[in-house]
Amino acid sequence: MSRPEEATESKENAEFRREVRAWIAANRPSDPGFKLPQSFLEVESDRQFEFLRDWQRKVYEAGYLGLDWPAEYGGHADPHKRQRIVSQELNRAGAPFLVNVIGLQWAGPTILAYGTEEQKQRFLKPILSGEEIWCQGFSEPGAGSDLASLQTSATPSGDGWVVAGHKVWTTLAHVAKWMILLARTDPAAHKYAGISYFLFPMEAPGVTVQPLVKMTGEGGFNQVIFDAAPMPKDALLGQLGQGWQIAMTTLTFERGAAEGSGGGSTAPTGESVRAVTSLARRMRRDGRSAAEDPVLRDRIAQGWIDEEALRLTAQRARVPGLNMDDRPLATRLMNKLVYSEFGQRITELACEVLGPDAGLWLGDASAPDKAEWPRMYMNSFGMTVGGGTSEIQRNIIGERVLGLPKTK
Ligand SMILES: Cc1cc2nc3c(=O)[nH]c(=O)nc-3n(C[C@H](O)[C@H](O)[C@H](O)COP(=O)(O)OP(=O)(O)OC[C@H]3O[C@@H](n4cnc5c(N)ncnc54)[C@H](O)[C@@H]3O)c2cc1C
Repeated sequence: MSRPEEATESKENAEFRREVRAWIAANRPSDPGFKLPQSFLEVESDRQFEFLRDWQRKVYEAGYLGLDWPAEYGGHADPHKRQRIVSQELNRAGAPFLVNVIGLQWAGPTILAYGTEEQKQRFLKPILSGEEIWCQGFSEPGAGSDLASLQTSATPSGDGWVVAGHKVWTTLAHVAKWMILLARTDPAAHKYAGISYFLFPMEAPGVTVQPLVKMTGEGGFNQVIFDAAPMPKDALLGQLGQGWQIAMTTLTFERGAAEGSGGGSTAPTGESVRAVTSLARRMRRDGRSAAEDPVLRDRIAQGWIDEEALRLTAQRARVPGLNMDDRPLATRLMNKLVYSEFGQRITELACEVLGPDAGLWLGDASAPDKAEWPRMYMNSFGMTVGGGTSEIQRNIIGERVLGLPKTK
């Protein structure tokens, strides 16, 4: 079935979309026979990781990753900027996700923006191929929303640096080869000015990665302890003391406020509400299909409206004339907030459609859709926290878009 944005697509883009769709249909891996994570936040075992990494490599080798990145760094410099089409088709096909999300969507675009020629040559291609996985060392036990309070230090030593401190909630650190690391390089400076941004080698001595378990019982993120861990001089990205500014660039990528992705997408494609509608048709309630329950019907209709509004808003954000001249990122700044909260509402609705069956868990043969909905519902809470909580996103919109006074 053709989707709304396809109706206005150019002939070349429509043809490209058909080609990508056919490639995915012919090449997507079959069910591996073991539990797969729902997103990059829940990758636990080696076999899950290898399965997902093989898939990313295959997508890259087919020429469908790094479309918008320069050719000299492993990309394709596609003049039509069609990475978005590939991401939409991967989402729609329900294909496995691309595991190197932090590399593709946040670290890679940041290196493209601030890296030296050597750093771009060294790091970008293995990000696209999945050969080198990245994690993000921003948050600390005492520095989450108030990120600028971070205490991990990088001190000059010999021809490089030594790192000491403690990062937490570090997604993928257990499989990562590199970390985008924020560390304090000048404790005497103002808290924003004393931070620098590094590309840290996770295999350095003095690094301990300890897994943390989530409420689903699954792992995926970690705490990372640095005990005089060395890194070379050229690990610095940008200028000394420029870390805060660069971190804000990374966060605009992470929160969907700026494009630049090497691949993979979080933009809505209408698939989640389609899946809930299908679930409601299959589930029974009061002797009839749950889809016939007037209250559930109403909520599902609201879900369609919400998802369509999200999709159209994402489309509008790409048209300069439909955005405020003085605040071009205003619409995109809403992305993270509205999309993560929508994810919570839609998976909660799915659990209501399931009724008492929402209590059945992974591994229970009688659980509808293998209990993926309650798992997704629980995981959806992390999405409104990771990358900046909903409260922080509201503060940002209040201050930067609506021009309200800054919070103290
Ligand atoms: C699934 C997941 C994955 C993550 N992955 C990573 C990762 O890979 N790398 C990384 O560096 N970090 C990661 N994080 C950490 C994440 O960025 C932080 O959890 C987040 O920034 C919030 O910080 P905190 O947990 O310290 O909460 P706190 O900052 O302590 O906040 C606690 C509560 O207070 C509220 N609050 C705080 N300040 C304000 C304010 N000014 N106004 C209004 N309300 C406020 C918050 O909204 C929240 O409800 C991840 C988190 C999750 C859940």
